[in-house]
Amino acid sequence: MRAFELVSARDSRHAVALLAEHAPSAKILAGGTDLLVDLKSSPRGPEVIIDISRAEDLKIIARKDEGLSIGALVTHSEIMRSPLIREMFPALVDAAHTIGAVQTRNLGTLGGNLVTGVPSMDSGPTLLALDALVTVVGPAGRRQMPLAEFFVGPRKTILKPDELLMEIVIPKQNLGKPAYFLKFGLRKGQALALVNVAASLWVDWDKHVFVTPRIALGAVAPTVIRAPKAEAYLEGRAITLEAMAEAGRIAVGEAKPISDFRASAGYRLDLIAVLTKRALEGAYALAKAKREAK
Ligand SMILES: Cc1cc2nc3c(=O)[nH]c(=O)nc-3n(C[C@H](O)[C@H](O)[C@H](O)COP(=O)(O)OP(=O)(O)OC[C@H]3O[C@@H](n4cnc5c(N)ncnc54)[C@H](O)[C@@H]3O)c2cc1C
Repeated sequence: MRAFELVSARDSRHAVALLAEHAPSAKILAGGTDLLVDLKSSPRGPEVIIDISRAEDLKIIARKDEGLSIGALVTHSEIMRSPLIREMFPALVDAAHTIGAVQTRNLGTLGGNLVTGVPSMDSGPTLLALDALVTVVGPAGRRQMPLAEFFVGPRKTILKPDELLMEIVIPKQNLGKPAYFLKFGLRKGQALALVNVAASLWVDWDKHVFVTPRIALGAVAPTVIRAPKAEAYLEGRAITLEAMAEAGRIAVGEAKPISDFRASAGYRLDLIAVLTKRALEGAYALAKAKREAK
């Protein structure tokens, strides 16, 4: 590991100022669960590490005019405990629960998970299925974009070296949208996903058809992806198990998984079909339960 200078940011504004001063040879430290692993194995690490773990303004979960804002520093454990998230998006709680072990979830942050850009990340699919936006800030100011545009390749995001990820926003039209997350790994705990899937949907109960269905997949392409052809197939279609199974089969054609030591590409393709169908079933069951509870 290369020696580095450690500086601590008081808040997000201070973090952006420190980035402007030290980038490109600086790195943000949030929970450190990914960064420290990287630093240990990298002889050419950053010269400056900017610790943002005390920036309280990045730890807020709040309802705003534009939707639900989750600060980049919110940890996976805090997502699991948040009454707002538990009520509106149990799929985000389920996804957080599958990440590493308790220690990893206590330190690891939502922002860190997204910035790593790892295709198997467990936070990505549900947020993509909810059309989440991300807000980033740098010397040129603030910009917001769909999360889908944030990921550009394996371990690559659109974030510039002097930019900070501030928050993740689930837009207001999707607050409470029924969503379901599933992860398949080689073990039940402490395992990266062979495939993870999230589905979200609204239901037109008069016609009993899918409305704005979303399917997002992880670990099956260079980035977390949506399955737009499967979504288009479902839009406005009568809700049946057969339609969900067909969407799963269509989603298979939208993925490009690799074979590695964890699983073959063929096995992952089979998982996509099965998990997509099950995630749609789960989202629909949630929609039904919410309707019956009214
Ligand atoms: C044992 C173990 C098990 C794990 N299991 C899983 C798992 O099952 N599923 C899963 O998805 N992940 C898993 N991870 C990966 C990791 O825990 C998560 O990705 C975690 O959310 C990373 O967050 P962090 O705050 O620790 O990020 P850090 O390690 O602090 O940062 C990661 C990267 O993001 C950058 N960064 C962080 N925050 C910001 C920000 N706000 N703005 C700009 N850049 C930023 C850092 O500079 C660094 O490059 C595991 C890790 C370990 C060590």
